[in-house]
Amino acid sequence: MTDLTGKTALVTGSVQGIGLAIAEALAVARARIAVHGLAEPGQAETVCARLEELGAPEAAFFPADLRDPDAIGAMMADVAAWGGVDVLVNNAGIQHTAPLAEMPRETWDAILAVNLSAAFHTMQAALPAMAERGYGRVINIASVHGLVASKDKAPYVAAKFGLVGMSRVAALEYAAAGSKASGGVTVNCICPGWTETAIIEPQVEARAASFGGDRDRGIADLLAEKQPSQRTSDPGEIGALALWLCSALAHNVTGTAIPVDGGWTAQ
Ligand code: NAD
Repeated sequence: MTDLTGKTALVTGSVQGIGLAIAEALAVARARIAVHGLAEPGQAETVCARLEELGAPEAAFFPADLRDPDAIGAMMADVAAWGGVDVLVNNAGIQHTAPLAEMPRETWDAILAVNLSAAFHTMQAALPAMAERGYGRVINIASVHGLVASKDKAPYVAAKFGLVGMSRVAALEYAAAGSKASGGVTVNCICPGWTETAIIEPQVEARAASFGGDRDRGIADLLAEKQPSQRTSDPGEIGALALWLCSALAHNVTGTAIPVDGGWTAQ
């Protein structure tokens, strides 16, 4: 089992969904967890307590609106002072579906800021210290939409393709850092297909509406269109993969974009 004792992980958007599942997997492996996200009152405390119950020696909440580069800079400084960032998971993301011609300009700006530029700012802050320590993991939660397009998702697809490309650049720049024994510095993307979280709810509800509000039929229809396994993923499955990427064993897995998509991008 991967042991992250002595390591600190920052997981953006970890108050819910895929980010929370990744934080839980890293907590079980005994990493200290810097929790982040747009939290409801009391939510951050509940999440931190749960992560400590699971095995994290410490969990603390670091707020920042990722649309604001100055707020990201302040958060990265605070986490560095708290113990550094050995594992950086850029997970926070937003979605809005509309035809390109109707996409509001401010929606384009927000999706590019949260889903792409925020990862640039956090990586720029964290990677040099990872190289100095000889161990570091950047795990960027992209999407199948970092590998293939779907209509009505112009800013999301643009941001996720950009995230995959930027991750490959960083992987090359840091490939020689560290050693097999120290674990090296790797940068990878995980590219989920349909995964059961809040972000897909508007799309599920819209599809369910065409079946008289039948949610299960709505999900089945979305899957039939794109995901050959016909099964959604659970967030914990992404967490398990993220944890594996943190192991020293994965020192030579870098610059990849790993689909967890039931065959979506194999077609
Ligand atoms: P989610 O909506 O449950 O979680 C999104 C997280 O991002 C939340 O914790 C939220 O607080 C945070 N966030 C959003 N805007 C923010 C902002 N301005 N500042 C700070 N934090 C902000 O959805 P999820 O499915 O858990 O999404 C996690 C990642 O997985 C996203 O990058 C998403 O694009 C990606 N993804 C999800 C799916 C899926 O089917 N669920 C598929 C492919 C990729």
